[in-house]
Amino acid sequence: MKRVYNFSAGPAVLPEEVLKEVAEEMFDYQGSGMSVMEMSHRTKLYESIIQTAEKDLRELIGIPDNYKVLFLQGGASQQFAMIPMNLMKNKKVAYIITGQWAKKAYEEGKIYGEAMAVASSADKVYSYIPDCSDLDIKDDVDYVYICENNTIYGTKFWELPNTKGKTLVSDVSSCFLSEPVDITKYGVMYGGVQKNIGPAGVVIAIIREDLITEDTLPFTPTMLKYKIHADNDSMYNTPPAYGIYICGKVFKWIKKMGGLTAMKELNEKKATILYDYLDQSSLFKGTVVKKDRSLMNVPFITGSDELDAKFVKQAKATGFENLKGHRSVGGMRASIYNAMPIEGVEKLVEFMKKFEAENA
Ligand code: PMP
Repeated sequence: MKRVYNFSAGPAVLPEEVLKEVAEEMFDYQGSGMSVMEMSHRTKLYESIIQTAEKDLRELIGIPDNYKVLFLQGGASQQFAMIPMNLMKNKKVAYIITGQWAKKAYEEGKIYGEAMAVASSADKVYSYIPDCSDLDIKDDVDYVYICENNTIYGTKFWELPNTKGKTLVSDVSSCFLSEPVDITKYGVMYGGVQKNIGPAGVVIAIIREDLITEDTLPFTPTMLKYKIHADNDSMYNTPPAYGIYICGKVFKWIKKMGGLTAMKELNEKKATILYDYLDQSSLFKGTVVKKDRSLMNVPFITGSDELDAKFVKQAKATGFENLKGHRSVGGMRASIYNAMPIEGVEKLVEFMKKFEAENA
């Protein structure tokens, strides 16, 4: 059995330990004689899976009782609509545009109300995070929206914006559980799990309770109301049951690894190996302003499309998969999420050094 080093931006690498464990449980989960995939979600056994997953997530992040944890579907993109439908009261939202995912959320927001772009880094191909210390945030905006880690461009908010007291809503899809966070600074923190936590198909939304109300936009479908999911403990309808089971396994794995502080240390170590090499290389260059660099997604270029393509091809042949940059920006991108082992990054850098020497 051959495993590659998978640098995909998502769906992405998962811990091998978890994959082995779920493989062992595939045919007969805890003596039930069936796989979790085949199991009714209305059973004690499944209830214990989803409840344990929520409990472990609460412990990992330190989520207080006045926040709900919802396991939802529809991808992170569905939240671009679900958030305005549930949170728009004055129908005004301030968006900070730091990449394609923030822009998509902003465009979706325009369908439901007045979406205001209060800052943007589009002028320099989203290669930095704009100064958000004193934005023009109107008194009557419902919330301020950010995409905290920009998967495509490799930037990260290392300081949260000054929202002038307004609710902060953050898409953390590509930095979920990669470091400790203070959830009380957020009204909504949400993300698709297919990068750091589990298989595509599950979205986790952590929402302050007072934001979950009956007072949604009038046409909001039942399935897109946070309250329905909150009142039914994410079991209003059939949840993405197998995906949640895998998420639960990954929460246990992170706990065993030492929690979010240990994750951050490991992620810093991995990213430093790659960034230090990029900073002194005469062939490869990072594309992001240093202070705004993501620990999760590391884009880089050679400056030549031809050499970029050659690199991606040779890397693939050597066992480094999915290093091609997003189709909208080109170049390369190494996504080094929680489950990417440090050896994967060390070996990638070794390979880059060799490629550099051969193509000097
Ligand atoms: N937000 C971010 C930060 C993303 O990276 C992505 C895509 N992976 C999305 C949102 C959209 O996610 P989905 O494909 O689950 O809708």
